[in-house]
Amino acid sequence: MASFKLRCVECGATYAEEPTRLVCDACSAQQRIGGETRGVLEVVIDHLPDRWIDDFGSSEFLTGFLPINDAGHLPPIPVGGTPLIKTDALAAAIGVEYLWVKDDTRNPSGSTKDRASQLVVAKASEYRIDTIAAASTGNAATALAAMAAAAGKKAVAFVPAKAPEAKLIQMLSYGINLIPVLGTYDDAFELCLAACQAFGWYNRNTALNPFTIEGKKTMALEIAHQIRGWGKADVVLVPVGDGVIISGIAKGFADLRRAGLLESVPRLIAVQPSRSASIATALRAGTVPVPDPMADSVADSLNVLMPRNAFQCVKMVQASGGAGVIVEDRDILDSIRVLASSTGVFAEPAGAISVAGLRQAVADGIVGADERIVLAVTGSGLKDVDAAARAVRRPDPVEPTLEMVEKMMN
Ligand SMILES: [Zn+2]
Repeated sequence: MASFKLRCVECGATYAEEPTRLVCDACSAQQRIGGETRGVLEVVIDHLPDRWIDDFGSSEFLTGFLPINDAGHLPPIPVGGTPLIKTDALAAAIGVEYLWVKDDTRNPSGSTKDRASQLVVAKASEYRIDTIAAASTGNAATALAAMAAAAGKKAVAFVPAKAPEAKLIQMLSYGINLIPVLGTYDDAFELCLAACQAFGWYNRNTALNPFTIEGKKTMALEIAHQIRGWGKADVVLVPVGDGVIISGIAKGFADLRRAGLLESVPRLIAVQPSRSASIATALRAGTVPVPDPMADSVADSLNVLMPRNAFQCVKMVQASGGAGVIVEDRDILDSIRVLASSTGVFAEPAGAISVAGLRQAVADGIVGADERIVLAVTGSGLKDVDAAARAVRRPDPVEPTLEMVEKMMN
């Protein structure tokens, strides 16, 4: 069993685990509606494993590195253990030497969010809570829906009504109670908070529930293990919206260093679209993130007015020696095609953005061409085919003749 405590990332106060404990009392008293989450709690596991565990899905791995008492509480569906793909073709296209893609599109619901939902649903089972709710731009709620379905739990999703169709249909198929909110993700976030307080549901809201960050750290544990034959990763590029995936990845590398399994951690690069760039802008200017009321990128998963985990995210990226990069929508759309055609990995805009981010980071001189580079690809292209359609040319139908086939070949 992994015994642990919860520590405030702002003031350092520590708390024992209890089902209703989400944030720090003192710091959350300063919470503003619509602002970043104050008093985010970080899980500190007392005794981490002191050796590499090869089987990512094993009970030994999960109960060793994650704050759960019993792997039997995890939903009965495998999560994580996704491949780290070495890609010479994409490396050559971008002009770097050593490049890997961490293909998290292969999770059960098609995104990294499954890692967080797996742990949150396990904690709900431990606490004997039946209903779990989440606000989401789409993927987090879909992941919750999948994990809740596997575990036989009820789930409620608060999602902006204009989320991509595929995400809404996917979560409905899993049987979630969908509440499409006429408003932004930030409106959905606040409504979910109020509903959880009113009805006693367990809140999976990202950054608010400490286990969302903790669940996502398994991505870093896997990257560090999978790349060992090559040494270690020098730099990892991560798509950023609320700042939770990158904080989770930072936490994973930090835990490995604390366990004595890594001597140093990779630099983390926060990649954001120019039309939702609070965190990357703050990292580049050395200031604090401010809300972006115009957030409206083609990477819908990354559109946030105010990143909920801004404080911890900026702190952890800076501690890694990393930085922020900002890319344009047209480059994100082009990255979908470039990634898919050079690696076989089909990503949604928010996943493919890592490719555009690497090009920009190399151009900015933030990443060197001879470094060992990992791109986190966090969501499947099947979740937003309309976006991908904007970056390819569909041929017109032709008569079924060999002559036409010859004419059509590139
Ligand atoms: Zn605090």
